[in-house]
Amino acid sequence: MVPTSKSREDITIDEILERVRAYINDEDQLSVIEKAYLFAKEKHEGQFRKTGEPYIIHPMNVALILTTIYADYETISAGFLHDVLEDCDCTLEEMEEQFGKDITKLVQGVTKLSKIHFSTENDYLIDYYKKIIVGMSEDVRVIIIKLSDRLHNMRTLWAIPPDRQKVKAREALEILAPIAHHLGIHKIKSELEDLSLRYLKPDVFYDIAEKLNKTKLERDKTVYDMQQEVSNLLTEHHIPHEIKGRAKSIYSIYNKLDKGKKFSDIYDLLALRILVHTEQECYLALGIIHSKFRPLPKRFKDYIAMPKPNMYQSLHTTVFGIDGYLFEIQIRTYDMDEVAENGIASHWAYKENGGSKSTANLQSTTEQKLQFFKSIIDLSHDKMSSEDFVNSVKDEVLNNNIYVFTPKGDVIELPRGATPLDFAYKIHTKVGETTVGAIVNNSIVPLDYELKDNDIVKINTNKSSTPSKEWIHMVKATQTKNKIRSFFTKNEREVYIERGKDNLEKELRKRKLAFSDFFTEENVKKICDAIHVENLEEIYLAAGNGKATVNSIINVVDKIKESPAPKAVKVVPKNIDADIIVSGIDKVKVSLAHCCHPVYGDAIVGYITKGNGISVHRLNCHNLSMLEERTLEVTWNQNVNKRYLTCILVHTNNIENRMLDLMQSISMLNINVDGIQVMSKTDKIIYEINCYVTGLEQLEKLILSLSKNSYVEKVERTMR
Ligand code: MN
Repeated sequence: MVPTSKSREDITIDEILERVRAYINDEDQLSVIEKAYLFAKEKHEGQFRKTGEPYIIHPMNVALILTTIYADYETISAGFLHDVLEDCDCTLEEMEEQFGKDITKLVQGVTKLSKIHFSTENDYLIDYYKKIIVGMSEDVRVIIIKLSDRLHNMRTLWAIPPDRQKVKAREALEILAPIAHHLGIHKIKSELEDLSLRYLKPDVFYDIAEKLNKTKLERDKTVYDMQQEVSNLLTEHHIPHEIKGRAKSIYSIYNKLDKGKKFSDIYDLLALRILVHTEQECYLALGIIHSKFRPLPKRFKDYIAMPKPNMYQSLHTTVFGIDGYLFEIQIRTYDMDEVAENGIASHWAYKENGGSKSTANLQSTTEQKLQFFKSIIDLSHDKMSSEDFVNSVKDEVLNNNIYVFTPKGDVIELPRGATPLDFAYKIHTKVGETTVGAIVNNSIVPLDYELKDNDIVKINTNKSSTPSKEWIHMVKATQTKNKIRSFFTKNEREVYIERGKDNLEKELRKRKLAFSDFFTEENVKKICDAIHVENLEEIYLAAGNGKATVNSIINVVDKIKESPAPKAVKVVPKNIDADIIVSGIDKVKVSLAHCCHPVYGDAIVGYITKGNGISVHRLNCHNLSMLEERTLEVTWNQNVNKRYLTCILVHTNNIENRMLDLMQSISMLNINVDGIQVMSKTDKIIYEINCYVTGLEQLEKLILSLSKNSYVEKVERTMR
């Protein structure tokens, strides 16, 4: 069994046109596609591929692949023409005359991509990436054609010598498949991976294929039975749906085996995908399935609430299905499925037939998704060694990222091991450069704290603060390192000059003097003499690096209107929770107590700690009773919009694991869960749930909603 598609040597233009007609009905566009086919056929006449077929079979297959991701007519036309400029007797002018600028540009882009020269393996990788990025930034359709081109070449890889096979396969696996992944084009990605594995590790590939084959009958039957059961269940609950059994790719199985799992342990071998119409139905279906089939703990993932960066959305769960088999189940809407299969290319499918609008949309979406590649390429230019580059691509692009939140709930993707500094720089370089502190999940953490999935990170900045050289050792992302480095490698003199000029400008403005009126030739000379420098630039420098103060410089000329001496800079602890107003006092450190976790809306009271500012407790917190004389009145700031960590205990009345069910109810209220602790007693389970709520109102809703479950005995807020 080889689960990849074959090259189609029997393909006809009529078949391709028919497929296009399924989603493009503009006759003019269809005739351009046909014309491109005829043009390519004529130009490739007499040429043959290594497989022995007439050459035109290749561009036809490429066009066919493009129809499966609903490419627009220009892309399909360029798919037909993609090898014409390079391999045939055809000039740019001729093609432009026949097909216009847009299609020709696409073909040119693909042609450029295929001309690669390389010396070492690393340089080659870099070069390749750069070319791809350049192509992408011009028009992402170039890359989509390139991916389809390579996919067909991989399908016919048997025709070239074994050593070339391995080179091409590695290239497909290491470069093109990840790019397809980032663009979310799952179809092309997984087929490229499977085909690559087949040539890179044929023994492994065929071994897995054979094992799959051996167990196929049994699995098919089990999957079918489970499918029926689930389908009946959903029908009973009036949820319209469609269920597909789905084949895991050989490569994904190989990946798991490679991580040390046994073939028999790979649960995802049995897999179902459920398609429903609305997001709400996804969660409903999940609940219904969990009510009948016991879920495997820790395997639930909610990519609907938290989509992957390539836009993938779905619910994932693993349950004990019929006959004790484990089933990996994906639940998603039809729209989500479209995006999961075609990624970036799904933007075509939603728009009318390939107008310029959808192309622009496709392009801008891609640009957002590929910011990361771009920044690496920019930085790699001269500051990064080849090895660093390849490592950073491998580390940061290909796997292993964590997802954390801004206080507003935006998701930020960072490499595993990233610190608050990485986070700050990722938000904006300026934020990174002025970072003075970080708060993770409401606690102050050191800047080299290792962030974890789902952390809520807030960065404190101070406009006049600058990076420290130590930071390079405190960050994980190569991007961040480069940004920090570039801050320091920027000519320091320039930085000082700029700063000096800035400060002088500010002080002059304060004294109501115009900059140009002040620095006349005569005045500059006076100042130079006074502070022993040569020219205006050196005056700025002196003001910037502290050799002379701004006032002493200006006073050389403008003694009369001297402004009061600058106040000494006093370090005031930052008010980290501006959401609390302390009556009569500002600039005092305020924190929310960890014993009773007050949330917005709670009756609260402030307690003056020894040396640690004011700690805010709930009015009924038992830790406060004996400390009355050190309390003071505090109120919530109504203008602040954030989420508060709170902790509740859910007492159940039996020992069944309800974790997923609880998680689901919580997420339906749009509440972020920080963690769930399970405490088992002999006859029941108590769940301690840490979550972030917008305030008392939401918290009460949550408690009410959880209490409604028949298995819940009581729900209470914790107080330590
Ligand atoms: Mn080609």
